[in-house]
Amino acid sequence: MRIGVLALQGAVTEHIVSIEKTGAQGMPIKRIEELNEVEGLIIPGGESTTIGKLMRKYGFIEAIREFAGQGKPVFGTCAGMIVLAKQIAGGEPGHLELMDITVARNAFGRQRESFECDLEVKGIAEPVRAVFIRAPLIQGVGPDVEVLTLYNDEIVTARQGNLLVCSFHPELTDDYRLHQYFADMVEDSMAADL
Ligand code: GLN
Repeated sequence: MRIGVLALQGAVTEHIVSIEKTGAQGMPIKRIEELNEVEGLIIPGGESTTIGKLMRKYGFIEAIREFAGQGKPVFGTCAGMIVLAKQIAGGEPGHLELMDITVARNAFGRQRESFECDLEVKGIAEPVRAVFIRAPLIQGVGPDVEVLTLYNDEIVTARQGNLLVCSFHPELTDDYRLHQYFADMVEDSMAADL
């Protein structure tokens, strides 16, 4: 099973290392044709405006919409979550606009720009180590969205069918259980395809 990591900007290598810990193969994706070689896709953290701009330039908006439309799983972390959201608070235009969530960018105040904590994630037995870096949070969710994690009453992990998002950086710790959760989604979607 192969899982791609969109490699336009951001934390790509770390995601590949985490994917490989689950036993799946990780592959950086730089061109849209490479999406044909993977069964799932991670959109990493970085800077959402930059990632969005590069996605438009290289045809990834349509290509990823089509990929997700085929039921293949997509996991957005931090900036990747912003890129997947239908709406960005403050009126900034969306990018992929695939997931029925409204996100607020840089939503944790100045003193708290970066921090780490342990969080309960629905579906994962023990708390997961979460690293937040100028992180967004989810302000609103549509009816098909399942909330998986709250941090101080704010939504920071959620799922809608084949789409998974989190506000933090699961690739920056050696806790790869969220990658395992995603790899299981990819495996299930492949089994459903048979
Ligand atoms: N602040 C970034 C943005 O708005 C996201 C930060 C991150 O991915 N660590 O795009």
